[in-house]
Amino acid sequence: MQKCINVNTIPSQQQCFAGEVSIDTLPNLQSSLAEKGAIGHYSIVCAVDTEGYTYLEGKATATVKLICERCLNVMDRELVSHFALSPVTDDEQAKDLPVRYEAIVVDKEGKIALADLLEQELILQLPLVPKHEQMNCNQLWQKENFEAQRPNPFTVLAALKQK
Ligand SMILES: [Zn+2]
Repeated sequence: MQKCINVNTIPSQQQCFAGEVSIDTLPNLQSSLAEKGAIGHYSIVCAVDTEGYTYLEGKATATVKLICERCLNVMDRELVSHFALSPVTDDEQAKDLPVRYEAIVVDKEGKIALADLLEQELILQLPLVPKHEQMNCNQLWQKENFEAQRPNPFTVLAALKQK
């Protein structure tokens, strides 16, 4: 994997990067996951647009293992991030960006660590509360839940007597 993109040397002609990243090497993302070994895929196009804005546009995906908070089993979740970023060196520059771009802060040298970018974009796709789709959730949980919802027969009987 290419380690850095230098935004100061991005040409006006499109430049493409694509590859794989081991999610194990992205510690802030990995710490939210249930298992190691996930692989992320990315493709990024860099160029300078007709208005002179440098941009990085692309997609990052990874299928990761999360813990379902309902049944506590491990589940697969596909994270898919589409992004359009433009490098800035401070908040003022960030405010002036056209809405089609989100700011990505770079240092004076203009370097962006590709791993940091991908990690940040994929973390944004993590669900706040990971849960299976209802249908796929643990069967035992479904059974318990079903029984909890069933009315108590004595309550039903009491209601009948009142009529
Ligand atoms: Zn579940």
